[in-house]
Amino acid sequence: MRTYDKFYINGQWVAPIGKGTSDVINPATGEISARVPYGNTEDVDAAVCAARNAFDSWSRTSAATRAEFLRKIAAEGEKRNADLTQTIVDELGMPIQNAAAFQVDPLAIICESFADKAKHMEEQKEVGNSLIVSEPIGVCAMINPWNYPIWQMIGKVAPAIAAGCTMVVKAASQTPSHLFMFAEICDAVGLPPGVFNMIHGSGKEIGAALSSHPEVDLVTFTGSTAAGIQVSNMAAPDVKRVCLELGGKSPFVITEEADLDAAVSFGVIDVMVNTGQTCNALTRMIVHESRYEEAVELAKSKAEALVVGDPADPGVFVGPMSSAGQKQTVLDYIDQATSDGARLVTGGTNMPAGLTTGNYVAPTIFADVTNDMTIAQEEVFGPVLVMIKYSDIDEAINIANDTPYGLAAGVWAGDKEKATAIARRIRAGQCAINGGDPNHEAPFGGYKESGNGREFGVEGLHEYCELKAMQY
Ligand code: NAP
Repeated sequence: MRTYDKFYINGQWVAPIGKGTSDVINPATGEISARVPYGNTEDVDAAVCAARNAFDSWSRTSAATRAEFLRKIAAEGEKRNADLTQTIVDELGMPIQNAAAFQVDPLAIICESFADKAKHMEEQKEVGNSLIVSEPIGVCAMINPWNYPIWQMIGKVAPAIAAGCTMVVKAASQTPSHLFMFAEICDAVGLPPGVFNMIHGSGKEIGAALSSHPEVDLVTFTGSTAAGIQVSNMAAPDVKRVCLELGGKSPFVITEEADLDAAVSFGVIDVMVNTGQTCNALTRMIVHESRYEEAVELAKSKAEALVVGDPADPGVFVGPMSSAGQKQTVLDYIDQATSDGARLVTGGTNMPAGLTTGNYVAPTIFADVTNDMTIAQEEVFGPVLVMIKYSDIDEAINIANDTPYGLAAGVWAGDKEKATAIARRIRAGQCAINGGDPNHEAPFGGYKESGNGREFGVEGLHEYCELKAMQY
């Protein structure tokens, strides 16, 4: 069991002012995997104060200096890759075969990416009699979810360092250990005191205190739409910038002439990675009526071929849900879909074959789903794929756009030009064309209730900048 008893504030490990502790539960075994301190609003004040005091000198360092720190963090992170990966397996239950690739390896990749981009902070532009420069926005509060903890954290911390901001970071209550380990990395590379500060505690107390703190200039939040709205409201009185990365219910349109086997395989894997706990999962598969039953059969066989079980086993692809509560939420959605008339093709509410304990849910597929059903409108956040039929492409696009969300989408058509034409009509911040891979150099973020910010790429750096125009 990992035990931490201090927060990292102002370049030092300090005893929390709040006296609580929190146990972190391994979702596969139910055992305690870590014990961490749970702070209070006074810890928030101390951390924000450290970030504020550090801002002036840090914001005036050269881009080259900040890039060098990011490269050192990348190198130190690589040294600790195995330890970080094990933490993700223990706390989140993400299978080890994916934990490194989707969570831990990106730490170094994203740090290197923003090390390359730090130089943009020193670019300036002349427009008429104006000189336009970018400046770091200031003290940033970063609030993260549990589903991709390291990827979300570094997607905020790296651009903030590149821009010259200082920060206070809070992880989700369920998955804190990586953040203590990341503080050790910042300490090891000698990041100046107060640039990176971490505390831990409940979203309702500490998250709220960060969101409303008068010394915070930007709140960057990833999580549910409901909590994101609360964060916005708390940040509004002093007009903080708020960057929101929220939930999704993303569509995947498959046309008549698509390579159906490849498309369905891509779609099933996309949903089942991280046991469906992925914000941009393509959870609504929208298939032309002429190939619908063929697609349903393919999806059934692909889902049933996935190995479910112990996330520490390298042969396992689908692990447990992250918590007992999350499992129950998913089972309730499955029950509701069945009573709403959806056809259960595979999976359901029984434990997956061969498993008797742990928060497991079998990969589940529903057919005969209409887009007005709850299972097609709400984010389930579990291994559940719904299959919807369409008769012409206008109807497919209407279905794709008919949710409050707009985080991601996928299109698989006969060729990439046809798929791109369809993708341009879908209101979402990302679109996978004929199985295109994710790209850390591209902006990531949502339309509509999926958010208002962009992470990664040069656009991710811009979130941490103010623009100044000087007239001559
Ligand atoms: P969540 O319950 O909204 O929590 C997210 C973070 O916010 C946690 O650190 C939480 O702290 C904190 N929090 C909760 N209530 C708060 C409040 N009133 N004020 C300030 N902070 C508060 O979300 P989650 O269940 O961890 O994550 C799953 C959600 O995140 C899904 O909806 C998913 O789609 C979304 N997500 C979006 C993206 C994206 O990039 N768009 C990426 C990943 C996940 P506690 O843990 O202490 O409650």
